[in-house]
Amino acid sequence: MATLLEMAAEIVSSHASTTPMSSDDLLQEIQKVYASLRAIEAGQPVAGEEVKPAITIKEAFKKNEVICMICGKGGMKTLARHLKTVHNMKPGQYKKQFGIPSKQPLTAKSFTEARRQMAMDRGLADNLAKAREVRMAKLKEKKSAPAKPAKPAKPKAAKKPAPVKPVKAAKPKVAKKAK
Ligand SMILES: [Zn+2]
Repeated sequence: MATLLEMAAEIVSSHASTTPMSSDDLLQEIQKVYASLRAIEAGQPVAGEEVKPAITIKEAFKKNEVICMICGKGGMKTLARHLKTVHNMKPGQYKKQFGIPSKQPLTAKSFTEARRQMAMDRGLADNLAKAREVRMAKLKEKKSAPAKPAKPAKPKAAKKPAPVKPVKAAKPKVAKKAK
């Protein structure tokens, strides 16, 4: 531990050589630096200082949880909300800071896979729906195909009553003739 204290004294004295410090300041700083050095040696995060992530990206994205690489909070399915509420950070910033590929979703692997599966299912459902639509459209075409010649027949049918009327009108004539 003496080496740590020596290191602390060295760090603080080099600091003191550039910044005017009182002896109280020096003592306080030596204690602070010493505590920090000891914490670093013990592998503990140093309070009040930005710490490099203790976990790798691989460790951060587990099968059933995603771990925040800033504060080490785990047990989350997705990080975006935690980043926003706790660290006031956008997913893009977080990815940049920790060198996470921009395409990688900030979610637990199982969650990502489930979502991908859902998307695939949805895609499949969409394709099925489209295929059905196409089939229905083809059926309609087939049905409407024979119906098309029938349509021009309607005006003919409308014309038909016209010649029928004279026949009807002729009936009374016939009736008169009969009388
Ligand atoms: Zn966090």
